[in-house]
Amino acid sequence: MSKKGIIAVISGFSGAGKGTVVNELVKNYGYAISISATTRKPREGEKEGVNYFFKTRDEFEEMIKNDEFIEYAEYVGNYYGTPKKYVYDKINNGTDVLLEIEMQGALKVKKAFPEVTLVFITPPSYEELRRRLEGRGTETKEAIDKRMARAVEECSYMDFYDYIVENDDLDECVKEMHNLLQAVHYSKENQTEFIDKIKNDFEK
Ligand code: 5GP
Repeated sequence: MSKKGIIAVISGFSGAGKGTVVNELVKNYGYAISISATTRKPREGEKEGVNYFFKTRDEFEEMIKNDEFIEYAEYVGNYYGTPKKYVYDKINNGTDVLLEIEMQGALKVKKAFPEVTLVFITPPSYEELRRRLEGRGTETKEAIDKRMARAVEECSYMDFYDYIVENDDLDECVKEMHNLLQAVHYSKENQTEFIDKIKNDFEK
């Protein structure tokens, strides 16, 4: 089996608990989370190389020119992007890398890098998502309605994902995700070098 790490994009509705699932995967199983570059200024407590790689606009545009991003987007006046170097250093070291990005970014990544695995995390039902958002107690009814409406629109993205995982019980979901991601190591897309080696061996 290939010793290289895999790249998996984790997306899901806001409130589906994907952030928690990703953090548990990192804590329990040693996955790495990709660190994005951005031109936005650091917020209080944010650290260079931990939350983001903070760049000037000129630096970011230079990186775009040099094809240093897996994908990038402009969002409310700032650039955000996933640097190739960090991700590739990790996978070449044998560490699996998780990208927690929104659905449009995820599809761009898949188009450019078909070997990337797209995983969609969903709560068990519409009612459960609303219950979780209400349970946070941090948002107005209007804001929650907006997130629910957005989730309805985002449902159609599920068709483009490779795997759909239900987040009902957190511990179960984390275990299922880990099992799934480990199985991805055996996919032919993630074993191209090994396949070539075996073919060379047998076809000579
Ligand atoms: P914030 O400024 O609140 O940290 O992030 C703003 C938005 O940028 C969030 O929706 C976040 O998911 C998105 N974002 C962060 N990093 C990346 C990235 O590398 N690529 C893309 N496309 N979006 C990102």
